[in-house]
Amino acid sequence: MAMEQYGEAIWLDGVFHDPKDANTSVMSHAIHYGSGFFEGIRAYATPDGPAIFQLKEHIERLFRSCAYYHVTIPYTVDELVQATIDLVDRNGFEACYIRPFVFLGTPWQALMAKDTEVHVGISCWQLGEYFEKGTGIRAKVASYRRVSSTMMPMQAKAAANYMNSQLLKGEALRDGFDEAIALDMNGNVSEASVANLFLVKGNKISTPSLDCSVLDGITRQAIMRIARDQGYEVIERHIGRDELYVADEIFLTGTAAEITSVAEIDHISINGGRNDVANELLGLYRKAATGHLEEYAGWLTYVTPAVAE
Ligand code: PMP
Repeated sequence: MAMEQYGEAIWLDGVFHDPKDANTSVMSHAIHYGSGFFEGIRAYATPDGPAIFQLKEHIERLFRSCAYYHVTIPYTVDELVQATIDLVDRNGFEACYIRPFVFLGTPWQALMAKDTEVHVGISCWQLGEYFEKGTGIRAKVASYRRVSSTMMPMQAKAAANYMNSQLLKGEALRDGFDEAIALDMNGNVSEASVANLFLVKGNKISTPSLDCSVLDGITRQAIMRIARDQGYEVIERHIGRDELYVADEIFLTGTAAEITSVAEIDHISINGGRNDVANELLGLYRKAATGHLEEYAGWLTYVTPAVAE
């Protein structure tokens, strides 16, 4: 895709660059050993201009991801929060997807050199729906398992984890499905390739607990809160594969996916593709993200704060 999609600037190591000049060496540690960390954030159009959803929480997760690997980000949380706001402002997008990232540069030869440079960048672009909403997607349970946290910290949003995600998603697409659902090493339901999973049964909404190799998704947390506020009982627990097929509803959550209903798993229709709860929660989530629900106003960082009278 053309570099123009990134607007006027990509922020890299403290400087706004023309996107075509925001480059790195092919001999970077990250390219050879996968040493990258990133976030995915959305800014939504609101009546008061663009607002970034859960910005601080995302930047804090980026710091936690790096901490697992002893990588120190040479900025503060507040500095990266401000750089993100400035970038969206400069690019003039009303709504966009924002990608802060950290990666190791040179020298690259030693797996664990003490002096390998830590680079930090932020880019953004306009992104529509990751999955079409409406009738629900078709998923399959993947043959690969989700990587276990006994192998790598799955709470880290590390680039290397996405090799596992690529295998999951690739298999699903090759087999004619939209998405994969991975099981963890114990055979419990884990998550989709880049989204968390929820299961509705009666008035109860369940989602795999964090010990099932799931990322602690920021949308997952938001949806748990919104659902509880609507009176649903929300439970984090182990979910067996069998439960998927006889659920009232299955839906996925994520920054890109928002709330996406799953209509079919392994060619089995999930309750005829019912998606009442998913639609209810998607509606509330979008209202919250676009500044229409006062109780969740704290989730938004406005790009151009209102000037006090
Ligand atoms: N799991 C994985 C593996 C992901 O990549 C994502 C997307 N960041 C999620 C879950 C959902 O997380 P969030 O709601 O914070 O976007």
